[in-house]
Amino acid sequence: MELPTKVLIGQGVLSKLGEFIEETSTRKKVVVAAGSNVTAKVRGAVDSALERPPVWVEVNAADLKNVENVIGSAVGSACIVGVGGGKSVDVGKLAAFRSKLPFYSVPTSASHDGISSPFASLKGLDRPYSVMAKPPVGILADIDVISSAPRRLLASGCGDLVSKLTAVKDWQLAHKKTGEYYGSYSASLALMSANVVLDGAKKLGGFGKGAVRDIVEALISTGVAAGIAGSSRPCSGSEHLFSHYLDIIAPESGLHGEKCGVGTIMMAKLQGADWKRVRSALKQVGAPIQDQTLERMTLRS
Ligand SMILES: [Zn+2]
Repeated sequence: MELPTKVLIGQGVLSKLGEFIEETSTRKKVVVAAGSNVTAKVRGAVDSALERPPVWVEVNAADLKNVENVIGSAVGSACIVGVGGGKSVDVGKLAAFRSKLPFYSVPTSASHDGISSPFASLKGLDRPYSVMAKPPVGILADIDVISSAPRRLLASGCGDLVSKLTAVKDWQLAHKKTGEYYGSYSASLALMSANVVLDGAKKLGGFGKGAVRDIVEALISTGVAAGIAGSSRPCSGSEHLFSHYLDIIAPESGLHGEKCGVGTIMMAKLQGADWKRVRSALKQVGAPIQDQTLERMTLRS
């Protein structure tokens, strides 16, 4: 099992970044991978949280070119810090894995579970979905920063959380059919995260700071569940395949968690689970409950 060794969640914790990554114990540079919007938003706070100015590397896409770029800038550095919603964390994670450096994840939004998982989703790899890297050594989640991100991103995070319901069921079915390893502990951990949304959608819908913290903790736990299972099984099943399919046929439409949420409604129905409960929870948090791409395709045909 490979798991993050530290997690710091709270309001204003970005100011503790230097302490968190143990900056003073090394004289080496720190590399920060971030997109331009995120850099504009948090660069001042990150720079003042560190004793020495870090090397900022701009990430403009989740692809191998950006990974190479970060690897190039990280030669001789102490660690790589990925600051952002998705792309920068994925790029930083794979760059750190390939250059054998510690990786710290600093999510600025909570739209999917990549913030803590051992997987990196990148374009240009030999498969259209994620590759196994290593989980972040540490995750620092500033609730003030994450709360100020658009609500759509938090609703998308809820979509990625409910998807654990069908992912775990698929894992159980695969275990029954092929005898593959099934870990009931990691499965339960993933289901607990899904239940944060399924049981608490009404409370989450307002996205107050307590709700944001619940979503962030649940997303981190699902990444930990994948680390315990040693595979993406507890976090990703047929609903994720549906999302990846949409990535191929309609690459610009919808966020990962939104697509997984819609996929979960469908797969829950196929699995004979309570799909209406999934749909109503997603509706309550303001996540989409039907796929407009498919709707358009149906209308055309
Ligand atoms: Zn996901």
